[in-house]
Amino acid sequence: MTNLLEAKGLHAAYGETKVLHGIDFAIRQGGVTALLGANGAGKTTTLRAICGMVRTQGSITLDGRRIDGMATEDIVRLGVAHVPEGRGTFMELTVEENMRLGAYTRPAAQATADFGHIFRYFPRLQERFKQQAGTLSGGEQQMLAIARALLLRPRLLLLDEPSFGLAPLIVQEIFRILKRIREDAGVSMLLVEQNAALALEFAEDAYVLETGGIVMAGSSAEIARDEGIRRSYLGY
Ligand code: ATP
Repeated sequence: MTNLLEAKGLHAAYGETKVLHGIDFAIRQGGVTALLGANGAGKTTTLRAICGMVRTQGSITLDGRRIDGMATEDIVRLGVAHVPEGRGTFMELTVEENMRLGAYTRPAAQATADFGHIFRYFPRLQERFKQQAGTLSGGEQQMLAIARALLLRPRLLLLDEPSFGLAPLIVQEIFRILKRIREDAGVSMLLVEQNAALALEFAEDAYVLETGGIVMAGSSAEIARDEGIRRSYLGY
Protein backbone atom coordinates (compact mmCIF):
# COMPACT_ATOMS: atom_id res chain seq x y z
CA MET A 1 0.00 0.00 0.00
CA THR A 2 1.36 3.42 -0.85
CA ASN A 3 1.50 6.26 1.59
CA LEU A 4 -0.95 9.11 1.29
CA LEU A 5 0.90 11.33 3.73
CA GLU A 6 4.51 11.30 4.86
CA ALA A 7 6.21 13.50 7.43
CA LYS A 8 9.99 13.53 7.65
CA GLY A 9 12.09 15.27 10.26
CA LEU A 10 9.05 17.24 11.37
CA HIS A 11 9.64 19.93 13.96
CA ALA A 12 6.93 22.22 15.32
CA ALA A 13 7.03 25.11 17.73
CA TYR A 14 4.81 27.76 19.29
CA GLY A 15 7.07 30.79 19.38
CA GLU A 16 10.10 29.70 21.38
CA THR A 17 8.39 26.56 22.70
CA LYS A 18 9.55 23.59 20.66
CA VAL A 19 6.99 20.79 20.75
CA LEU A 20 7.91 18.29 18.00
CA HIS A 21 11.55 17.33 17.65
CA GLY A 22 12.02 15.91 14.17
CA ILE A 23 9.47 13.09 13.89
CA ASP A 24 8.86 10.75 10.93
CA PHE A 25 5.51 9.11 10.27
CA ALA A 26 3.29 7.98 7.44
CA ILE A 27 -0.39 7.38 6.77
CA ARG A 28 -1.22 4.74 4.23
CA GLN A 29 -3.65 5.32 1.39
CA GLY A 30 -7.02 4.18 2.73
CA GLY A 31 -5.50 3.28 6.09
CA VAL A 32 -6.10 4.39 9.64
CA THR A 33 -3.10 5.39 11.73
CA ALA A 34 -3.35 6.03 15.46
CA LEU A 35 -1.24 8.56 17.29
CA LEU A 36 -0.97 7.76 20.98
CA GLY A 37 0.79 9.34 23.91
CA ALA A 38 0.30 11.05 27.23
CA ASN A 39 -1.12 14.55 27.69
CA GLY A 40 1.21 17.18 26.31
CA ALA A 41 3.21 14.71 24.16
CA GLY A 42 2.44 16.74 21.03
CA LYS A 43 -0.42 14.82 19.40
CA THR A 44 -2.66 17.82 18.81
CA THR A 45 0.34 19.78 17.61
CA THR A 46 1.06 17.05 15.04
CA LEU A 47 -2.44 17.43 13.60
CA ARG A 48 -2.07 21.20 13.60
CA ALA A 49 1.29 20.87 11.85
CA ILE A 50 -0.30 18.84 9.03
CA CYS A 51 -2.97 21.54 8.62
CA GLY A 52 -0.45 24.36 8.49
CA MET A 53 -1.69 25.82 11.77
CA VAL A 54 1.66 25.89 13.55
CA ARG A 55 5.18 26.81 12.47
CA THR A 56 7.09 23.74 11.24
CA GLN A 57 10.39 22.57 9.83
CA GLY A 58 10.95 19.35 7.91
CA SER A 59 8.75 17.99 5.16
CA ILE A 60 5.14 16.90 4.93
CA THR A 61 3.99 15.43 1.64
CA LEU A 62 0.50 14.50 0.50
CA ASP A 63 0.67 12.13 -2.46
CA GLY A 64 4.28 13.14 -2.92
CA ARG A 65 3.50 16.85 -3.01
CA ARG A 66 4.96 19.14 -0.35
CA ILE A 67 2.24 20.73 1.77
CA ASP A 68 4.38 22.09 4.61
CA GLY A 69 4.46 25.86 4.45
CA MET A 70 1.16 25.98 2.55
CA ALA A 71 -1.81 27.99 3.85
CA THR A 72 -4.37 25.96 5.82
CA GLU A 73 -7.08 26.74 3.28
CA ASP A 74 -4.98 25.30 0.45
CA ILE A 75 -4.23 22.18 2.47
CA VAL A 76 -7.97 21.77 3.08
CA ARG A 77 -8.60 22.13 -0.66
CA LEU A 78 -6.16 19.30 -1.31
CA GLY A 79 -8.38 17.07 0.81
CA VAL A 80 -7.21 17.27 4.40
CA ALA A 81 -10.04 17.84 6.92
CA HIS A 82 -9.45 18.41 10.61
CA VAL A 83 -11.93 17.51 13.34
CA PRO A 84 -10.36 19.51 16.16
CA GLU A 85 -10.21 18.83 19.86
CA GLY A 86 -13.24 20.58 21.32
CA ARG A 87 -14.96 20.03 17.96
CA GLY A 88 -14.92 23.60 16.64
CA THR A 89 -18.71 23.82 16.55
CA PHE A 90 -20.43 27.21 16.43
CA MET A 91 -22.83 26.73 19.33
CA GLU A 92 -25.09 29.68 18.59
CA LEU A 93 -25.62 28.58 14.96
CA THR A 94 -27.97 25.82 13.88
CA VAL A 95 -26.87 22.38 12.76
CA GLU A 96 -27.67 23.41 9.19
CA GLU A 97 -25.58 26.58 9.43
CA ASN A 98 -22.66 24.65 10.91
CA MET A 99 -22.88 22.14 8.07
CA ARG A 100 -22.93 24.90 5.44
CA LEU A 101 -19.84 26.44 7.01
CA GLY A 102 -18.14 23.05 6.95
CA ALA A 103 -18.59 22.88 3.21
CA TYR A 104 -17.06 26.29 2.58
CA THR A 105 -14.63 25.10 -0.07
CA ARG A 106 -17.41 23.71 -2.27
CA PRO A 107 -20.26 25.26 -4.27
CA ALA A 108 -23.39 25.55 -2.10
CA ALA A 109 -25.53 23.36 -4.39
CA GLN A 110 -23.01 20.51 -4.27
CA ALA A 111 -22.77 20.74 -0.51
CA THR A 112 -26.55 20.68 -0.15
CA ALA A 113 -26.66 17.60 -2.35
CA ASP A 114 -24.21 15.97 0.05
CA PHE A 115 -26.40 16.60 3.09
CA GLY A 116 -28.51 13.53 2.20
CA HIS A 117 -25.37 11.45 2.10
CA ILE A 118 -24.26 12.76 5.49
CA PHE A 119 -27.67 12.02 7.02
CA ARG A 120 -27.30 8.37 6.07
CA TYR A 121 -24.46 8.24 8.59
CA PHE A 122 -25.91 10.71 11.06
CA PRO A 123 -29.73 10.55 11.01
CA ARG A 124 -29.78 12.47 14.30
CA LEU A 125 -28.36 15.52 12.56
CA GLN A 126 -31.29 15.46 10.17
CA GLU A 127 -33.71 15.36 13.10
CA ARG A 128 -31.88 18.29 14.69
CA PHE A 129 -31.17 20.20 11.45
CA LYS A 130 -32.87 23.46 12.48
CA GLN A 131 -31.79 23.27 16.11
CA GLN A 132 -29.05 25.37 17.68
CA ALA A 133 -25.84 23.37 17.91
CA GLY A 134 -25.49 24.40 21.57
CA THR A 135 -28.58 22.33 22.42
CA LEU A 136 -27.06 19.10 21.07
CA SER A 137 -25.67 16.38 23.33
CA GLY A 138 -21.90 15.86 23.41
CA GLY A 139 -22.18 12.86 21.09
CA GLU A 140 -24.32 14.78 18.61
CA GLN A 141 -21.82 17.64 18.65
CA GLN A 142 -19.04 15.21 17.83
CA MET A 143 -21.18 13.85 14.99
CA LEU A 144 -21.70 17.38 13.71
CA ALA A 145 -17.95 18.04 13.80
CA ILE A 146 -17.30 14.90 11.76
CA ALA A 147 -20.15 15.78 9.37
CA ARG A 148 -18.66 19.23 8.79
CA ALA A 149 -15.31 17.69 7.94
CA LEU A 150 -16.92 15.14 5.59
CA LEU A 151 -18.64 17.92 3.67
CA LEU A 152 -15.18 18.93 2.47
CA ARG A 153 -15.01 15.51 0.71
CA PRO A 154 -11.66 14.79 2.34
CA ARG A 155 -9.13 12.14 1.42
CA LEU A 156 -7.61 12.41 4.86
CA LEU A 157 -9.50 12.98 8.08
CA LEU A 158 -7.54 14.17 11.13
CA LEU A 159 -9.49 13.20 14.24
CA ASP A 160 -8.52 14.75 17.57
CA GLU A 161 -9.93 12.66 20.43
CA PRO A 162 -13.37 11.89 18.99
CA SER A 163 -14.23 9.93 22.16
CA PHE A 164 -13.43 12.79 24.53
CA GLY A 165 -16.03 13.23 27.28
CA LEU A 166 -18.53 10.82 25.74
CA ALA A 167 -20.32 7.86 27.30
CA PRO A 168 -19.06 4.42 26.16
CA LEU A 169 -22.17 3.61 24.13
CA ILE A 170 -21.92 6.87 22.20
CA VAL A 171 -18.21 6.27 21.60
CA GLN A 172 -19.07 2.87 20.13
CA GLU A 173 -21.67 4.44 17.89
CA ILE A 174 -19.24 7.07 16.63
CA PHE A 175 -16.57 4.50 15.86
CA ARG A 176 -19.11 2.31 14.06
CA ILE A 177 -19.94 5.29 11.86
CA LEU A 178 -16.26 6.11 11.27
CA LYS A 179 -15.74 2.51 10.16
CA ARG A 180 -18.58 2.79 7.65
CA ILE A 181 -17.22 6.10 6.33
CA ARG A 182 -13.88 4.49 5.84
CA GLU A 183 -15.31 1.45 4.07
CA ASP A 184 -17.66 3.43 1.82
CA ALA A 185 -15.41 6.29 0.84
CA GLY A 186 -11.89 4.96 1.43
CA VAL A 187 -11.08 8.00 3.54
CA SER A 188 -7.70 7.70 5.27
CA MET A 189 -7.56 8.76 8.91
CA LEU A 190 -5.08 9.92 11.50
CA LEU A 191 -6.62 9.29 14.88
CA VAL A 192 -5.45 10.92 18.10
CA GLU A 193 -6.93 9.15 21.11
CA GLN A 194 -6.45 9.01 24.86
CA ASN A 195 -8.36 5.75 24.72
CA ALA A 196 -5.44 3.70 23.39
CA ALA A 197 -7.24 0.35 23.46
CA LEU A 198 -9.99 1.73 21.27
CA ALA A 199 -7.55 3.42 18.89
CA LEU A 200 -5.43 0.28 18.49
CA GLU A 201 -8.52 -1.73 17.70
CA PHE A 202 -9.63 0.72 15.03
CA ALA A 203 -6.28 1.53 13.38
CA GLU A 204 -3.85 -0.74 11.52
CA ASP A 205 -0.77 1.32 12.25
CA ALA A 206 0.21 3.31 15.29
CA TYR A 207 2.84 5.66 16.64
CA VAL A 208 3.52 6.45 20.26
CA LEU A 209 4.66 9.98 20.95
CA GLU A 210 6.49 11.09 24.08
CA THR A 211 7.57 14.70 24.68
CA GLY A 212 7.67 15.44 20.97
CA GLY A 213 9.51 12.32 19.83
CA ILE A 214 8.29 8.97 18.51
CA VAL A 215 9.14 6.18 20.93
CA MET A 216 7.43 3.37 19.09
CA ALA A 217 6.00 2.75 15.62
CA GLY A 218 4.48 -0.35 14.12
CA SER A 219 1.31 -2.23 13.43
CA SER A 220 -1.44 -1.72 15.99
CA ALA A 221 -1.29 -5.41 16.83
CA GLU A 222 2.43 -5.19 17.57
CA ILE A 223 2.02 -2.11 19.71
CA ALA A 224 -0.92 -3.59 21.60
CA ARG A 225 1.27 -6.60 22.45
CA ASP A 226 4.16 -4.48 23.76
CA GLU A 227 4.29 -4.80 27.51
CA GLY A 228 5.79 -1.37 28.18
CA ILE A 229 3.17 0.30 26.03
CA ARG A 230 0.41 -1.69 27.67
CA ARG A 231 1.57 -0.62 31.10
CA SER A 232 2.09 3.03 30.20
CA TYR A 233 -0.87 3.63 27.93
CA LEU A 234 -3.36 0.82 28.10
CA GLY A 235 -3.46 0.32 31.83
CA TYR A 236 -3.21 -3.49 31.94
P1 ATP B 1 -3.33 16.78 25.02
O1 ATP B 1 -3.90 15.42 25.02
O2 ATP B 1 -3.17 17.35 26.39
O3 ATP B 1 -3.94 17.71 24.03
P2 ATP B 1 -1.17 16.55 23.17
O4 ATP B 1 -0.29 15.35 23.06
O5 ATP B 1 -2.18 16.73 22.12
O6 ATP B 1 -1.82 16.56 24.59
P3 ATP B 1 -0.26 19.18 22.51
O7 ATP B 1 -1.59 19.80 22.72
O8 ATP B 1 0.21 18.98 21.13
O9 ATP B 1 -0.20 17.78 23.25
O10 ATP B 1 0.79 20.01 23.35
C1 ATP B 1 2.17 19.73 23.36
C2 ATP B 1 2.91 20.80 24.16
O11 ATP B 1 2.78 22.05 23.51
C3 ATP B 1 2.38 21.00 25.57
O12 ATP B 1 3.50 21.14 26.42
C4 ATP B 1 1.60 22.27 25.50
O13 ATP B 1 1.67 22.99 26.71
C5 ATP B 1 2.31 23.04 24.39
N1 ATP B 1 1.37 23.92 23.67
C6 ATP B 1 0.22 23.52 23.07
N2 ATP B 1 -0.39 24.55 22.47
C7 ATP B 1 0.38 25.64 22.70
C8 ATP B 1 0.29 27.03 22.34
N3 ATP B 1 -0.72 27.50 21.61
N4 ATP B 1 1.29 27.84 22.77
C9 ATP B 1 2.33 27.36 23.49
N5 ATP B 1 2.46 26.08 23.86
C10 ATP B 1 1.52 25.22 23.47
